[in-house]
Amino acid sequence: MAKKSFPLNKEQLQEIVKKYPTPFHIYDEHAIRENIRALQKAFAWAPSFREQFAVKALPNPRIVQLLHEEGAGTDCSSLAELLLSDIAGVKGEEILLTSNDTPADEFQKAIELGAIINLDDISHIEYLEKNAGLPNIICFRYNPGDLIEGNDIIGKPTEAKYGLTREQLFEAYKIAKEKGIKRFGLHTMVASNERRTEAFLFTAKLMFTLAVELKEKLGIEVEFVNLGGGFGIPYLPEQEPLNLMEIGEGIHKLYDEMMVPAGLNKTGIMTESGRAMTGPAGWLVSTVLHEKKTYKDYIGLDSCMANLMRPALYGAYHHITIAGKENDPCDHLYDITGSLCENNDKFAIDRKLPKIDIGDLVIIHDTGAHGSAMGFNYNGKLWCAELLLREDGSIELIRRAQTIDDYFATLKYPGSLVK
Ligand SMILES: *Cc1c(COP(=O)(O)O)cnc(C)c1O
Repeated sequence: MAKKSFPLNKEQLQEIVKKYPTPFHIYDEHAIRENIRALQKAFAWAPSFREQFAVKALPNPRIVQLLHEEGAGTDCSSLAELLLSDIAGVKGEEILLTSNDTPADEFQKAIELGAIINLDDISHIEYLEKNAGLPNIICFRYNPGDLIEGNDIIGKPTEAKYGLTREQLFEAYKIAKEKGIKRFGLHTMVASNERRTEAFLFTAKLMFTLAVELKEKLGIEVEFVNLGGGFGIPYLPEQEPLNLMEIGEGIHKLYDEMMVPAGLNKTGIMTESGRAMTGPAGWLVSTVLHEKKTYKDYIGLDSCMANLMRPALYGAYHHITIAGKENDPCDHLYDITGSLCENNDKFAIDRKLPKIDIGDLVIIHDTGAHGSAMGFNYNGKLWCAELLLREDGSIELIRRAQTIDDYFATLKYPGSLVK
């Protein structure tokens, strides 16, 4: 059984809280570095491998910078994410733009930065050419339709708005080639929080088949196959982490069986993992403000779903521990709530936990991806701070908490400063 851990003890956490009041997300630099190294090790066999960190999972330049130091690029789907990559030191073709319904300014910025553009639709070739000009290298996103089942989070590919059908894909490469583009990549993204090895092998097989066909039919040798993200993490304490080495080795075997005989022995592999890189390396730390006993026993925190939306949005499980009570018996039943005027603002429902007291520090696990990133200001609730626990044990503030002035800064009203 995988054990849910937190890198700090109660005393260390209390020291941090004196300087940085709760709520905050705290990220573990060491764990993030270990996560990307494990992924790279699994694909070390490939002629080239790059993880394009999906910025949307944790859009903080300091985190992107750490991952870049380890050799990662970025996968962006907005102007802000492109800019964020640039300021984090990620340059040129280390940046991938995988947008959809893309506005012209995103394409223009991607061209300006020399990023690789991954097109979501055949009609985008013309739109890109007209609005930003064509690049030297282009990639297309494949939607495998009913060849893949999909799951609750990502849905069925046939219902998904992303990517090109098989027919469109061949047509798109043909058009791009006729327009003089000489360098190509191939992309798909069909998994989300997937922990089954065979799902990744199935995707790889599908993509290698396409790469070989592109060579045979159009004479195109793709420089890389991007297998997307979706590497799952064990949110539940009884779940096992996915077996990256087994996935890497399985894909290696397919590569040797399919790509190498077709003369595609230089094609690199890319992934664009978000969750698996930072998810388990982040925790939301809050203080207990209230205990309320009505029909149920409620523990009210100083954070809310604006700081972590996944439980309210998907009913997602996030493990919870109480600082200093890690080994106490879980003999109380609580709903753990935030302060939003929405009844689904609950981090946990009917959760067995040790007896909780007002002032306790509550640690919500696995918030390093799609946590702070999904923040919002509904009800006037503010974004909380983000801290980085450095490898030397020091703490670095990498995002200050939003203030009430930040919140009012875009509002126009008599006497406001906004012109
Ligand atoms: C969200 C997303 C990812 C990352 O997904 P994870 O589940 O966090 O690994 C990768 N690529 C694209 C295009 C995405 O939209």
